Amino acid sequence: MAYYKSYGAAGEVTGSCHFLHIGKIRILIDCGMFQGAESEMNFEPFGFEPSDIDYLIVTHAHLDHIGRIPLLVKKGFDQKIISTRATYSIAQLMLRNSAGILETKPKPLYTLNDVDPALDLFGTFLECGQTMTLDENIKISFKNAGHILGSVSVKLEFFDEGIEKSIVFSGDIGQSERIITSPIEFWDKANYVFVESTYGLSIHEKLEISIDSFKEQILQTIGHGGTVVIPSFALERTQEILFLLKQMSEENLLTNIPVYLDSPLAINVTNTFMDYPELFSDDVKKIIQNGENPFDFKELIKTYSKAESMQINTKHGPKIIIAGSGMCEGGRVNYHLVRYLEDKANLALFVGYQVESTLGRKISTGNRDVSILGTPVNINAKVGYVSGFSAHADQKELLEWIDVIEDIYCVYLIHGDVPQLETLKGKIKKELQEKVHIVKIGEQIHL
Ligand SMILES: [Zn+2]
Repeated sequence: MAYYKSYGAAGEVTGSCHFLHIGKIRILIDCGMFQGAESEMNFEPFGFEPSDIDYLIVTHAHLDHIGRIPLLVKKGFDQKIISTRATYSIAQLMLRNSAGILETKPKPLYTLNDVDPALDLFGTFLECGQTMTLDENIKISFKNAGHILGSVSVKLEFFDEGIEKSIVFSGDIGQSERIITSPIEFWDKANYVFVESTYGLSIHEKLEISIDSFKEQILQTIGHGGTVVIPSFALERTQEILFLLKQMSEENLLTNIPVYLDSPLAINVTNTFMDYPELFSDDVKKIIQNGENPFDFKELIKTYSKAESMQINTKHGPKIIIAGSGMCEGGRVNYHLVRYLEDKANLALFVGYQVESTLGRKISTGNRDVSILGTPVNINAKVGYVSGFSAHADQKELLEWIDVIEDIYCVYLIHGDVPQLETLKGKIKKELQEKVHIVKIGEQIHL
């Protein structure tokens, strides 16, 4: 007997939590936080008994895939968590930071005290290309998902009443071309394929075009003496931005332009990235082999403390400020936006997707009057948006990822909003194969 049930990221993007019952073994794949409009769902019961779970497999360290692990442990889960080493290292930073933010809320989902018991259950490491056996019958293996550092897709192979079966979970899969992370790997065979659908109906701008646009917009602004504020996600996007700015620095395009990395979390994540040189793209590996740090350059100033952060405002003249949060929903970036958005010489440059109803979405879609930290701000600064840095595969790349897998019985679509899921389903049916199903939350699927 084997079946699957979804407890999150079915018909939506956040809250990834997938349950597998294979023989006597109960496995959870990811235990993420619901975010945005769905965040109240974090307070609902899991839908299963956490103490019944035998293994938790984690695909990567984004909060929508790991954010409820401390809660899972608090509610009774006490078994092994299987992940790559890099995912564990980054998860430590992300979960502690998340707990710090949650503690400031009137009704915290969990606190810092709940994080260490969860981190203690990590430590069963599996790297890409390796295989591990669970309970003598279930073989699991990872491949690089090319999404963020340490991210994987997962394959489970097992015998069910004498019949050999295999399941692949995509995790979040990256674009074929990434700036710093080594490229995505493909599975060649699986019977049941669970695939994310975040960009099931869209095609991204080409990465090269986005990189040129990013550099061009910065040069224009600093060339006229302006300040560039880049709201950036601490994990992966900030390191990509630093890598591109390093290129500009080496071309002497940033001479005498201070670049502030104003986010303790992003500084810590960047340091952690340097512990995993083997996981980078060839371009980044070459820089490291030459004894250089791919995320450091002479104009870069890391501002860890609040006092250092406030010092940035005393620096006159052109400068670049990278700060979180990526969607301007809190964090130091908001102080900078209040200070710099009213002057037309400046630029707010968005480098990642902005979820509906966030301040980042309001600003990046052209709202000129916004309220930030309770202050009304009239935006005269330029507002730029670079769309091609996405860490997710687009529709074409999702189809390519599925297309190379042989022996598929059915494709199951998860981790997407309804229009993306419906469009991707139609495309798969038309171009790849007849059996494709959009998973609903709580639906039990026999394998
Ligand atoms: Zn992700």
